[in-house]
Amino acid sequence: AHNERESLYIALGYARDFFVKSLHSEEGKSIGLSYFKERGFNQNIIEKFDLGYALNGWSHLHEAAKADGFSDEILLKSGLILQKEGDPQRLYDRFRGRVIFTIHNLGGKPVGFGARILTQDKKQPKYINSPETEVYHKSDILYGIFQAKKSIREKDNCYLVEGYTDVISMHLAGIENVVASSGTSLTESQIKLIKRFSDNITVLYDGDAAGIKASLRGIDMILEGGLNVKAVVFPNGEDPDSYARKVGSSAFKDYLESKAQDFISFKIGLYAEETANDPIKQANLIKEVVQSLGKIPDPIIRTVYIRKSADLLGIDEDIIQAELNKIYLKGK
Ligand code: ATP
Ligand code: MN
Ligand code: MN
Ligand code: MN
Repeated sequence: AHNERESLYIALGYARDFFVKSLHSEEGKSIGLSYFKERGFNQNIIEKFDLGYALNGWSHLHEAAKADGFSDEILLKSGLILQKEGDPQRLYDRFRGRVIFTIHNLGGKPVGFGARILTQDKKQPKYINSPETEVYHKSDILYGIFQAKKSIREKDNCYLVEGYTDVISMHLAGIENVVASSGTSLTESQIKLIKRFSDNITVLYDGDAAGIKASLRGIDMILEGGLNVKAVVFPNGEDPDSYARKVGSSAFKDYLESKAQDFISFKIGLYAEETANDPIKQANLIKEVVQSLGKIPDPIIRTVYIRKSADLLGIDEDIIQAELNKIYLKGK
């Protein structure tokens, strides 16, 4: 048999072209393009990110692809079409009546799609994404890496955001060194991907409880990968996309510059208020910080951060060191 991966890439490239073309159809213009325009996306950015539109209907893509010679087998394996539950002979398009975010691999080939609903329909998920396929391993890919890699290397820093639209709005604000974890937890392999271009990551997760929780977890993963990590906290309810549009690109850049904190200050800052008059919580915070410190593989960097933590927590370095030793004795 010929190379199946190659066939998947061709099918996914075909789908990308189809979604891009559909965005400029009558339906696409009135529904998809107007949605993107409302979000401030211009033609330039639409092309740069292969933004598109999936026509509303059960088989627009399937019919077109079939007519152009694609087998059902390849279309199923690429995740573009699905078998009806209980009636596997019946096939239908996965993406229908949604705007499309094309997901590229490092080399710029389409490997999957994210599709956003246009209405506030609580019964439907806001985003539908391609499934895992032979060419799309979610844990290995970061949205926007193809468009960002050059800038990540030049700036020697990578901004890490949660969503597709955060990446795009930051490009519109003139910040191109940005990738998204697309709402899933950061993996070791994604961190290694960033590390090919820079050792520095700044986490910009949404300003809500979920975003803060994800930042804390992401920070520990990044430390374990041996990279340097900073974090920026957004005002409650804001994400990089909404905040960039709210304050404008120049104020947004200033915000990132002035609010980026090293991970120790970020962690301590988060808990400062609730721990102030509570010795138990204070002790838990120290243990939290020590956990993160224990993840830093480089002993010199670790020492620097131990000093900083001791300073910020107002305790002796030896206490932190003793706690760290306990972690190491447990074998991490
Ligand atoms: P928008 O600004 O369009 O509302 P967002 O990116 O701010 O989108 P979030 O709810 O913050 O949306 O989610 C962050 C990311 O998580 C999304 O960009 C998407 O990749 C992923 N995501 C969100 N909701 C879902 C879902 N229901 N199913 C799968 N992935 C999702
Ligand atoms: Mn969110
Ligand atoms: Mn968001
Ligand atoms: Mn958003």
